[in-house]
Amino acid sequence: MNAFQRYLTRTLPEPLSRLTELALDLRWSWSHASDALWETLDPELWAATANPWLILESVSRDRLNQLADDATFRDELERQLAEREASLNGPTWFGEIQDTGNFGTVAYFSMEFGLSESLPIYSGGLGILAGDMLKTASDLGVPMVGVGLLYQQGYFRQALNIDGEQLAYYPYNDPAMLPVMPLRNGDGGWLRVTVELPGRPLQLRCWEARVGRARLLLLDANDLVNGPRDRGITGELYGGDTETRLTQEVILGIGGWRMLERLGLPVSVCHLNEGHAALAVFERAASFRRQHGTDFEIALRATRAGNLFTTHTPVPAAFDRFPPALVRLYLTPYADQWGLPFERILQLGRIHPDTNDADEDFVPAYLALRGCGAANGVSRLHGEVSRHLFAPMFPRRPLHEVPIGHVTNGVHTPSWDSRDADQLWTQSCGKSRWIGDLTGIGGGIRGLDDATLWEFRGRSRQSLIKALRARLARQRASLGAAVERIDECALMLDPNALTLGFARRFTAYKRTNLLLTDPDRLSRLLTNTNRPVQLVLAGKAHPRDWNGQRMIKEWSEFIARPELRGRVVFVEDYDMAVAATLVEGVDLWINTPRRPWEASGTSGMKVLVNGGLNLSELDGWWAEAYAPEVGWAIGDRCEHDADPAWDASEAKNLYRLLEEEIVPLFYTRDQAGIPPPWVARIRESMARLTPAYSSNRMLREYVEHYYLPQSRAIAARQADNARLGTELEAWHRRLKAHWGGLRIGDLSWKQEGNGWRADVQVYLDDLGPDDIAVELYAEPNSCHRLQRMEPLAGAIHGYRYSTTLSADCTPDDYTARIVPTHPAASVPLEATEILWQPRN
Ligand SMILES: *Cc1c(COP(=O)(O)O)cnc(C)c1O
Repeated sequence: MNAFQRYLTRTLPEPLSRLTELALDLRWSWSHASDALWETLDPELWAATANPWLILESVSRDRLNQLADDATFRDELERQLAEREASLNGPTWFGEIQDTGNFGTVAYFSMEFGLSESLPIYSGGLGILAGDMLKTASDLGVPMVGVGLLYQQGYFRQALNIDGEQLAYYPYNDPAMLPVMPLRNGDGGWLRVTVELPGRPLQLRCWEARVGRARLLLLDANDLVNGPRDRGITGELYGGDTETRLTQEVILGIGGWRMLERLGLPVSVCHLNEGHAALAVFERAASFRRQHGTDFEIALRATRAGNLFTTHTPVPAAFDRFPPALVRLYLTPYADQWGLPFERILQLGRIHPDTNDADEDFVPAYLALRGCGAANGVSRLHGEVSRHLFAPMFPRRPLHEVPIGHVTNGVHTPSWDSRDADQLWTQSCGKSRWIGDLTGIGGGIRGLDDATLWEFRGRSRQSLIKALRARLARQRASLGAAVERIDECALMLDPNALTLGFARRFTAYKRTNLLLTDPDRLSRLLTNTNRPVQLVLAGKAHPRDWNGQRMIKEWSEFIARPELRGRVVFVEDYDMAVAATLVEGVDLWINTPRRPWEASGTSGMKVLVNGGLNLSELDGWWAEAYAPEVGWAIGDRCEHDADPAWDASEAKNLYRLLEEEIVPLFYTRDQAGIPPPWVARIRESMARLTPAYSSNRMLREYVEHYYLPQSRAIAARQADNARLGTELEAWHRRLKAHWGGLRIGDLSWKQEGNGWRADVQVYLDDLGPDDIAVELYAEPNSCHRLQRMEPLAGAIHGYRYSTTLSADCTPDDYTARIVPTHPAASVPLEATEILWQPRN
């Protein structure tokens, strides 16, 4: 019996036993080479679930015996196993980087992971990003394990009732039918870790999912050894009350780190995908403290360099926050274990650490930023927005110095391309196109002629319509609709009509009803007989988001208009499978968020590889990707909050663009029936944007800008029993003790040669001259470091600092300042002090 077979509740005929290896590797969610095997085993189940593990557990013994005797099937199985081995063991992009030193692994913490609809432990964009990260780590050979929770129900499932209102369901995820395995101890027992909840321990079971070369490790509380109240803690994703959420974050951050330790994984970088797992910062430091006998602050200094915080939040109201009393209840037991006073825990999670406001909330995102070695937003614009958001933590710093960079999100292209698109790209750009460094990719697409691209789009639209008709029929059937109503679905939608796609979470900032601002005008657009347009909608509203649910109902009412029959459809239960179907076939993907709320947005990136075009607000990724050659935009690159007048004018723009530009462009055909300007945009969007907004590009940026430098930094801080970590902590303590005593004296300017010489007198209290730097700063972004010259006569620790600026500078623009400096420190991230020359 092979290592995977034992997870199956049944025994397979010997020649087929290695099917388990394929079924338990979620690589099947993007590499479709083995689809034929599963389809042969059970075509109906395959069509309904696309879950190979479920098929292995369910298929009949007769069918298995039949196939065990079938040489063709066995050969195909051998071929697939060989292909998997080759892909797991071949050379990789990461393997070829020189100088990775002793890089261990990245632990990627996320509250949700969207790898496939058959592992429903995600809600939306955040989770799908996490899933795409793991898949890409596998492609590129970046050592990575995901850390998350195995929810019994996950996020709610959606249906609409006969009136078009949303219903929420919570079907149970039977772990035996999910492509996950219990994580075993060395002795074969089930690995469990414990976290402490108020008054009681909580046992967590550990699970594992294979994602090619990467692994996803999961925790759940549904263990018989826990009390009934506690077994449901990992039931729902984003359900429950504040206390449940805090408990889930304790499990993810603290339990997650404990699980990694129990497995002895050599974690270099702990990547926090959003603030939910911020408590890992404490547990990681505490574990270092135990091993090295340092105090907590030194341990934090020594470990934080290896933590990366990716923030996804565009507005403060969207941060998770917990009242201090609740945090006290849950984290007091940890304060002792971690070796720090409880008040310090609170302090690290507050925007104003020295607040006297006893009610100020504890915000995990603030802890994440205070406990990391680097932080980033998820698009260029969101980087800027995040610097605003976190600016109060860096008082008196110019905004652009707030230490938050950006890595624009990308999508795992092989997971979102259609079979047709895969073929087209393989022919023009080669088979290994998404696993290398993407150099030159896209060139092949530019070489494709109009007819090839347009026919590809035609086939894609047709297969979308076919899939939608079948799905809508099932949707109606589940409502108990009459047979005629179900049969009608076979005639819905037109395979030749311009097909618009609009699918996303129904919530205020996404303005999911902007298109509905003038329903009659939209209806006229859709029902134009010469230039027909159709619209496919999908999306869930959180069960507590009444406004979101109202917007769904509004769409339902619109769809019910008799003239729109078969032209506008709402697909229930938006999940990864629905998303994949839509992005493969729609001509135009529409996105209308309220800027700057869409931190990145990724759904529009999924249409790129398939030749779909984007029409979107200039927000998130589109604010940097848009150009007239690749799509369309609304918005003026400014923020207007929730101004109804602005919304109305944007809606007008949206209609105008559709009526006057987009629809006519799609229907301007040459003799062969091709719309050449439309196809030109397809070609340019595919060639230019697909590689740029792929997770391949994204992960390579994380590796080069964050993972590798951070792994070197943390190794340096921890070496020799944290010698450097200890030194940094001592440095910062010195700074804090003496900062108040620093003084900047006169700044004088002299014209000298062909430049300006600046001299400034500085008194350092008891700080050493290497602890700080003296700089001249001018808005918007000019900074010069001064050189220390001779000591000032008769002064203790007083020095003249000097530099020469070029003649075109205006001395009056410059202000002198003192900032902390240390060659190994990240300033201002871990030393926020700054002193400006008083200006009068
Ligand atoms: C890609 C995807 C998302 C993210 O979409 P945005 O609206 O761009 O944030 C959400 N849900 C599902 C099911 C997806 O596939």
